[in-house]
Amino acid sequence: MITILQPTLSNIAIILFMYLCISILVTNRKSINKYLFSVSVLVLTSACVIFLFYLPIRYEGYQFDLRLVPLVIFTLLLGWKHAIPALVIAVSWRLGMGGVGAMPGVVFGMILPVLLALLFYKREKAMPGPISLFLLMTACWLASDLPILFLVPNGAEVFGEIYFVRILALQVSAFILYFFIYQLDREVVLKRKLQFYAERDPLTGLYNMRYFENRIKKVSSSRLTYIVMIDIDLFKKINDTFGHLHGDSVLINVAATLSKLVPPHYSLLGRYGGEEFILFLEVDSRERLMNIVSGIRSGIENTPFYVVDQKLEVTVSIGVSELTDPSKLYHAIEKADNSLYASKENGRNQISYAM
Ligand code: GH3
Ligand code: MG
Ligand code: MG
Repeated sequence: MITILQPTLSNIAIILFMYLCISILVTNRKSINKYLFSVSVLVLTSACVIFLFYLPIRYEGYQFDLRLVPLVIFTLLLGWKHAIPALVIAVSWRLGMGGVGAMPGVVFGMILPVLLALLFYKREKAMPGPISLFLLMTACWLASDLPILFLVPNGAEVFGEIYFVRILALQVSAFILYFFIYQLDREVVLKRKLQFYAERDPLTGLYNMRYFENRIKKVSSSRLTYIVMIDIDLFKKINDTFGHLHGDSVLINVAATLSKLVPPHYSLLGRYGGEEFILFLEVDSRERLMNIVSGIRSGIENTPFYVVDQKLEVTVSIGVSELTDPSKLYHAIEKADNSLYASKENGRNQISYAM
């Protein structure tokens, strides 16, 4: 038993080393190119499997390794698009190494377990539960080790000698890897949530002013830049008529409509506060600016908003000012706000420019 403990632990160490490298990639995912990320995960998984070929666990003249563990877990998490290339690389390497055990090792120890894992793969990216994992690993163990009965002389004897160690090593290493990945997944979800609440307004999902300010400070543009303040007209009436909660749902829908009306590039939309929104625009000409802003005004006017099946006509008043210096954001906001006030004074549902 002791003699197989050491190589089993080295197998697990290789698998955990792969996990460690992948976890570094996952935590820095935002700063890594999408394709580079996929290729790196693929290379790490294939390299891990290949390393395991060179660290066989020898028991009573028979040798095995934990190659199917990284392949199966990797397949469970990422599906066939990632699993098949990793399988192709590892299989080619193993066949290149040669030896009598190469072909059965490839078919029963790699291809079959990956196919089984694909049956357990869930598209919604949810991790399988521990019972599913246990069942899958048991099925993989049967797929990889039952053929010993037929392929090895006195197979039944060999199988009887190693079955306990085999299933234990496979289950334990799969569960260790699963546990670490589960923890990593939770950390990533938590980090994403924290980032969302640090940057966004929780009601509308638009950027909050802290994030907006920081982004504007970093703007360096040779084009024309503007600040646009957008305020919903007579919003108090909506609150008074339908209640604050329905008012909130109108705010959420107006924010979503605004997001569709602003250009996807060279713009930044945030919630300034209450029912007032702030938009940064970078454009080539004043004509373009006027087109965008008038599209926002008429877009909101022509979008039906519903509160408890009742159609509401919502309009916005808009004030625009030029942002001549990104470090003077609040100066531009003040000017845009004054124009917004003029739009309100002149009867609402209109645009005023402070330029
Ligand atoms: P005006 O056309 O002059 O802008 O009229 P108004 O009623 O929109 O303006 P006013 O500033 O008087 O009222 C804004 C209202 O928006 C007051 C406040 O209760 C409401 N409000 C601010 N924040 C929220 C929010 O998060 N949810 C809801 N439901 N209402 C909000
Ligand atoms: Mg208002
Ligand atoms: Mg207001």
